[in-house]
Amino acid sequence: MRAVPTVAVVGTGPAGIAATRQLRDQAGVRVVLVAPEGRSEYLPGTLAVAAGDARAAQYRTRVELAGVEIIPARVEAIEPGALRIGGSWIRAHAVIAAPGLALDPVGGATSGEIVGFWDPTGAEAAAPRMRAVERGLVDVVISSLPYRCPPAPYGLAMRLARRARRLGQQLQVRLVTPEEHPLAALGRVLGDALLAGCQDAGVEVSLGAKIDPEALARGAITARASDGDGADLTIVIPRHRTSPLLADLVDATSPLVTVDARFGTEMTGVFVVGDAAASPYPRAADPAAWSGTLAATAVLSELGFEHARDPEAPAPDCFVDHGDGAYGRIRITYPDGPPPGGQPAVAIAPATPALAKDFEDAHRRWHALRVEGQ
Ligand SMILES: Cc1cc2nc3c(=O)[nH]c(=O)nc-3n(C[C@H](O)[C@H](O)[C@H](O)COP(=O)(O)OP(=O)(O)OC[C@H]3O[C@@H](n4cnc5c(N)ncnc54)[C@H](O)[C@@H]3O)c2cc1C
Repeated sequence: MRAVPTVAVVGTGPAGIAATRQLRDQAGVRVVLVAPEGRSEYLPGTLAVAAGDARAAQYRTRVELAGVEIIPARVEAIEPGALRIGGSWIRAHAVIAAPGLALDPVGGATSGEIVGFWDPTGAEAAAPRMRAVERGLVDVVISSLPYRCPPAPYGLAMRLARRARRLGQQLQVRLVTPEEHPLAALGRVLGDALLAGCQDAGVEVSLGAKIDPEALARGAITARASDGDGADLTIVIPRHRTSPLLADLVDATSPLVTVDARFGTEMTGVFVVGDAAASPYPRAADPAAWSGTLAATAVLSELGFEHARDPEAPAPDCFVDHGDGAYGRIRITYPDGPPPGGQPAVAIAPATPALAKDFEDAHRRWHALRVEGQ
């Protein structure tokens, strides 16, 4: 009788969960899933938490999946066939790493306040400082590309602007981005729609801004001594970095790990999936889940199990918060074949309060994938 192989998965985002579920559905494989506290966080909840309309706890859950061993810990290192946790090495026949992207620190003080976050936990920590600013200028600054969920900073700006208007606050919100046109990689129409949405919400957009990500850690936006144009509050989408776990797999040109067609890396038996991997799809949940499933099928076939069917090509799907309870929705397909060869076809559903239910349904589905039997 052959020994039961162990496959270790790192991370409980969409990529790690999809890989875990695909592996656990194969009898005869031991699946070990590692994430800090064994928990998962729903990143699209960031905007509601930032606006003070929800608590981060609403968008967090412990993970409980039948047939999966969950280790509540932060992985310290990955090597071919092994993970280091708490100083000890755990052996595995293969490792699927889905640690997402790490966020640079943002801090210090300009002439006004500066906060940086891009997840619900970070948003909750920043919320009191944001609430304290009731008048003046608020900048929402995209520090650099790539970052996760390209339309979301525009959504944050619109939500904050509409909230201020509803509360009768004299607050001007400005979106500042290094992009020459929003989300240009997805074509002109989507960027135009985001600009129109911002205009409607009273958000000024400053395109082509020269931002110095190195300056952000000390609380400045550019290398100039005085900057920020006197914003009373600067909200920064921090620079997204390679997870320290994967530092040996990237070069200085990009935070993303180069992978082959099945998300294998140059490290034998180590796959990198989700936001951390250099795939031509946007940093979004469906492409992340697709890559996790694809890597899991590759691992299973390398272990000699009958080859499972590859997943359907991903169709990224993002909600765009317009504030006051209204959401738009963007769906991207690739009718001519996968990118980078195939061009994206973008369908834009205009903002309506009716789509708030779809947003909540997506959150419920996210939860159901992590906690079974509820
Ligand atoms: C504000 C916002 C709004 C968004 N809205 C949408 C949307 O509407 N639609 C959409 O498709 N996408 C959206 N996204 C993007 C989407 O959430 C990400 O693309 C997706 O979560 C990436 O999945 P992932 O599994 O690669 O990584 P992540 O979701 O980032 O998960 C990484 C996991 O790895 C764990 N981890 C990290 N380091 C370690 C370590 N050393 N040891 C163990 N575990 C570790 C983390 O705790 C986490 O569980 C949004 C993102 C943000 C920030």
